[in-house]
Amino acid sequence: MPAVADILIPLALDTAYSYAVPHGLTLAAGDVVQVPLGPRETIGVVWGVEERASGGNLRPVTGRVEAPPLSEPLRKLVDWLARYTLAPKGSALAMALRLPDEAAQRETSRIGVRASGRPASRPTTARGKVLAVAADGAVRGKSALAKEAGVSLSVVDGLIDDGALEAVALVPEPVALPPDPDHPRVPLSEAQAEAARDLIAAPSPSPAETGGTILLEGVTGSGKTEVYFEAVAECVRDGRQALVLMPEIALTAQFLDRFAGRFGVRPATWHSGIGGKRRERIRAGVASGEVSVVVGARSALFLPFARLGLIVVDEEHESAYKQEDGVHYHARDMAVVRGRFERCPVVLASATPSIESRVNAQSGRYRHVSLPGRFGGRPLPDIKAIDMRLDKPEVGRFLSPPMVNAVKATLAAGEQALLFLNRRGYAPLTLCRACGHRYQCRNCSTWLVEHRFRRALVCHQCGYAERKPEACTECGAFDHLTPCGPGVERIAEEAAELFPDKRIVVLSSDFPGGAERLRQELETVAAGECDIVIGTQLVAKGHNFPHLTLVGVLDADIGLTTGDPRAAERTFQLLQQVTGRAGRGERPGRALVQTYQPDHPVIAALLSGDAERFYEEEISAREAAGLPPFGRLAALIVSGEEREKAEAHGQALARVADPPPGVMVLGPAEAPLALVRGRWRFRLLVKTERGIDVQSYLRDWLARGPKPRGNLKVAIDVDPQSFL
Ligand code: ADP
Ligand code: ZN
Repeated sequence: MPAVADILIPLALDTAYSYAVPHGLTLAAGDVVQVPLGPRETIGVVWGVEERASGGNLRPVTGRVEAPPLSEPLRKLVDWLARYTLAPKGSALAMALRLPDEAAQRETSRIGVRASGRPASRPTTARGKVLAVAADGAVRGKSALAKEAGVSLSVVDGLIDDGALEAVALVPEPVALPPDPDHPRVPLSEAQAEAARDLIAAPSPSPAETGGTILLEGVTGSGKTEVYFEAVAECVRDGRQALVLMPEIALTAQFLDRFAGRFGVRPATWHSGIGGKRRERIRAGVASGEVSVVVGARSALFLPFARLGLIVVDEEHESAYKQEDGVHYHARDMAVVRGRFERCPVVLASATPSIESRVNAQSGRYRHVSLPGRFGGRPLPDIKAIDMRLDKPEVGRFLSPPMVNAVKATLAAGEQALLFLNRRGYAPLTLCRACGHRYQCRNCSTWLVEHRFRRALVCHQCGYAERKPEACTECGAFDHLTPCGPGVERIAEEAAELFPDKRIVVLSSDFPGGAERLRQELETVAAGECDIVIGTQLVAKGHNFPHLTLVGVLDADIGLTTGDPRAAERTFQLLQQVTGRAGRGERPGRALVQTYQPDHPVIAALLSGDAERFYEEEISAREAAGLPPFGRLAALIVSGEEREKAEAHGQALARVADPPPGVMVLGPAEAPLALVRGRWRFRLLVKTERGIDVQSYLRDWLARGPKPRGNLKVAIDVDPQSFL
């Protein structure tokens, strides 16, 4: 009987398609193949092969593609991902296998030259210099050779045309050199060594449990990185591979250098900026086992590791691990799933773990390894509140007098201060004092944010930008447009007036000059070459600024009023993280927190330094409200170009929701961000008891409900992190 292969194609398709396996071709599950799809050819992955009568009318597989096959654990992960997120299976596969990138195929390998042994037909002095250098027979890049000989590139080209030099393909440099697990390193403290032993002793989980997941908790500066590096080292010694996941913005040169300090070489890295040939080479190196450690952003989770022995999720509480478009998945949760399929331990590291992971650790589902205090007994920063109802800033200013004095004292001591405000740009709202007009995005229900540096009003949701007008576009009044509220640029202006002779840098994700310039700027800050840093959450994460001794939080309350069930958790984590930047060097640090609600439980817990109290209160509040992880949430977001149609579709879905006991369906409600990129949005929220299979319920419901037509779309977000 002929063989039939079920091929999953990395497009938004929910099932694998059957193809005939032509005579002479042997295929196994996981093989990457080329198949016809409609009028064209595409690639896909063999999901299953069986001997069965094909009915004779199946199209045949075109052939095998030179690409690493998808291992069984990775295929299981794809199946799991699709079932859990309700994404089409093909879309889940696309996370692990992208359609070939045309730019990558056009890239050619680098060419080098060497002496051919034939003399030049027309010797000149310049040519003589080149041939003298090349006489050793070594292969060099063309420009390297020209430079070494001190001539222009055209001389080298001339010698190639002439036949005196011959072109050879340069062997590409390996994507990463092998890390040395026994590279000399700093000795660990007793507590660190014990924690490292605990990680290494982690049993490999069987597919059914999560016993191989470990929560590694310790305040910033306690040495979590040093400790999980030991687990990585042990994994490499064992001849297995390790994956370290980080939020993309924490993937800094500073971190890679630290890795190099421990292992002698930098690791292979994987993030959204890695393109073309390099992507393919890393994938191949990971699949062959040649690359033993990858440090990457969330998408690295889907690399085809051959012998995965450890996954570390650093800053596991970060919401950046949740992908909010396409397949709505949480990389931390999927890391735990992959660990189960690979039978390898998963380490979740954080100074401020998510409530979910904390609860799992407390219930014994995860093992809990804690590091006490900061390394070397360095004290945690002393945190004090500034009650803004009492210590008001001057009119039109945002720094209260005690904050100004603290900055002054810090600078006088030759130390660095960080002013933290989680708002990009100059002012979050522009208002005409003559007519009251407020500048709003034309595609979104958001206020336009003034960016002085760009002289523009910008939408932070869709990127729409317009030049800031001279006169009000509504009433024509000149000089009446007023910025309302502060962003980091405005704080920088105030700081420059207060401290005219100090070096000030503003760090936010829209830093002019892009990621590379930003990296350099972070290094100058770390080197102490600036006095005042003004930054958004970008500076809160992962950076070590040894000269920083004062952290000033300008608006601690900013995140508390969002109506998001995780608002308290998020604010606590962010403030804990940013205040933890102070005093990581030789001198002790302190933090001042401007707030209008010093008695709010989150602020009170932060001030008392009693994280335990915060966790206890927040965990019992979640339990009482049946919120995650004590209950489950899923959101449906209906969007469309016409408001009425989007709302009507949401209502039609709600009418057939028919929730069984233990399930509640709320909405549709207009989303807080009601209009985004010209699409109106309505949200339905499903809230269930913990034991309910929310995916099955959603599947049934959507199958019963009306199908979105025209420009309507329904996005499914299981375990939503964002409620906007
Ligand atoms: P965390 O990841 O918990 O924030 P790190 O591992 O980054 O902590 O350590 C904080 C700082 O202390 C780093 O600068 C690190 O080099 C230093 N450090 C930690 N452990 C040791 C050690 N055993 N010996 C020397 N320095 C250490
Ligand atoms: Zn917009």
